[in-house]
Amino acid sequence: MSGFLSAHLNTLTEYVPGEQLQDRRYIKLNTNESPFPASEGVVAAVSGQTVRDLRLYPDTDCRLLIRTLADTYGVEPENVFVSNGSDDILNFAFMGYCGPDRPVLFPEVSYGFYQVYADLYRAPCRKIPMNPDFSIDPEKYMNAGCTVVIANPNAQTGIALPLADIERIAASNREHVVLVDEAYVDFGGESAVGLTKKYKNLLVCQTFSKSRSMAGARVGFAVADAELIADLNKIRYSTNPYNINSMTQAAGTAALKDAQYYEENCRKIVRTRAWTKAQLEALGFFVTDSSANFLLAGRGPVQGKTLYEKLREKAILVRHFSDPQLDDYVRITIGTQEQMQQVMDAVTEIVKGR
Ligand SMILES: *Cc1c(COP(=O)(O)O)cnc(C)c1O
Repeated sequence: MSGFLSAHLNTLTEYVPGEQLQDRRYIKLNTNESPFPASEGVVAAVSGQTVRDLRLYPDTDCRLLIRTLADTYGVEPENVFVSNGSDDILNFAFMGYCGPDRPVLFPEVSYGFYQVYADLYRAPCRKIPMNPDFSIDPEKYMNAGCTVVIANPNAQTGIALPLADIERIAASNREHVVLVDEAYVDFGGESAVGLTKKYKNLLVCQTFSKSRSMAGARVGFAVADAELIADLNKIRYSTNPYNINSMTQAAGTAALKDAQYYEENCRKIVRTRAWTKAQLEALGFFVTDSSANFLLAGRGPVQGKTLYEKLREKAILVRHFSDPQLDDYVRITIGTQEQMQQVMDAVTEIVKGR
């Protein structure tokens, strides 16, 4: 550090993204990207005229993308916010709704960025322990008396809460924002988007990074009551109103029109997830009941960190977390059926000590 950085920022521990290694060709299953390419409509949308028109600033109101999202999700444009990936939305929500005298409550095992944003805005964290099987006990999120953040399906575990539980949590915390991060909802979760009409405190965010094969484009969106959306826009217009570039806006709009392609890809992931889970269980691993595009596997014949390292030697990249609760686990993104066949061949060799 330079010595010029403000003391508070100096103390922060940054978020550690999954490795993006380039020393050899890996089967890359460590950051929950889609194994399938963006749709042909997306490819067409970012060629030719969209590129020539880069001389112009993007539409700061993202009108076409927002209208298309509103139509897709059955809400009004005033209920939709878009930003540069859903991490950007989380950042704005923590900036807006958490702070030194405004704590935030979230599950102990979840998306690592929640802690980072809480620290950035100096908000005390109330981290709720998991049930022994890594599921969430919804009772512990009732009447929290502060901002609540839940990923559903949950990050790292893939376990989904039923919509009825999300509704009870929103209903019991009407004086505070309840942020539901639905990054993985398209792989089998129940979305709370419909509940935003009933609960003015409910902020639901989703991303194009996973189910829509667009992690590199950076599009996230939120659906909520118009007043919450206005808050987020106030922050966006106070930081960087041009944060969604015009290629990304065009790509996002095109992706929504190719819904069938992405739905079919999600169905493939769900089928391959079931197959992979059964294979891992047959080898003696505990595997979470995931509704996301990854599995958390551990407590098996090979220790989590060892499995991660041995797979890496075989050019397969999965995720191992430094969190002590997850030390004996790996998180494996679901790739194509062919990739997962290769992963299971490798895991089998490792388990058999070959
Ligand atoms: C991947 C992920 C995000 C971030 O998504 P981006 O839109 O790529 O920023 C947010 N929350 C959770 C739980 C995620 O898994």
